[in-house]
Amino acid sequence: MRAMVRAYIGLGSNLGDRQGHLDFALARLAELPVSRVAAHSPVYCSRPLDDMEQPDYFNAVAALDTTLPPLELLDALQAIERAAGRERTGHWAPRTLDLDLLLYGEAVIDHPRLTVPHPGIAARDFVLQPLHDLDPDLVIPAAGSLATLLEHCPQRGLTRVEAAP
Ligand code: ATP
Ligand code: CA
Ligand code: CA
Repeated sequence: MRAMVRAYIGLGSNLGDRQGHLDFALARLAELPVSRVAAHSPVYCSRPLDDMEQPDYFNAVAALDTTLPPLELLDALQAIERAAGRERTGHWAPRTLDLDLLLYGEAVIDHPRLTVPHPGIAARDFVLQPLHDLDPDLVIPAAGSLATLLEHCPQRGLTRVEAAP
């Protein structure tokens, strides 16, 4: 039997019902086989990277305990994106749902379809902050302590999205 691994999934949406798409993703993650959503961060609102002319993003991170192998987990994440109506219109295009596999335990993966840790982590406050909310002591393989990375990351003005009553 494979060992249980703690994976972290970055959730993002900047098209349509952004909160609804994040809720949808969390519900679908909770239904994945041999997996359990251990926790999820608050939702943050952030400007698109490079200040592109696009709606702001809603972002969050989920901690997923799973025995799914990494590529199977990526397949499952992409199936959830498709189920949320994502169309692949280009790199960094607006999207209903983006699910990035940020971390897979302490694994370092260099595969044509999958790079882990996700290469964007260190430069993205909308990833580092929710990761820090979930586990301030986290160490990112090959990049160092999460707290240090957050300290050095350019702050792009995240705002907390209050949960609807
Ligand atoms: P970025 O990766 O910079 O956040 P993006 O999320 O817009 O950009 P996508 O169009 O969603 O990029 O993904 C492009 C490809 O990236 C996917 O088809 C997938 O195979 C690959 N990929 C590589 N590493 C990862 C990862 N850690 N998580 C998700 N996808 C990954
Ligand atoms: Ca992404
Ligand atoms: Ca992605």
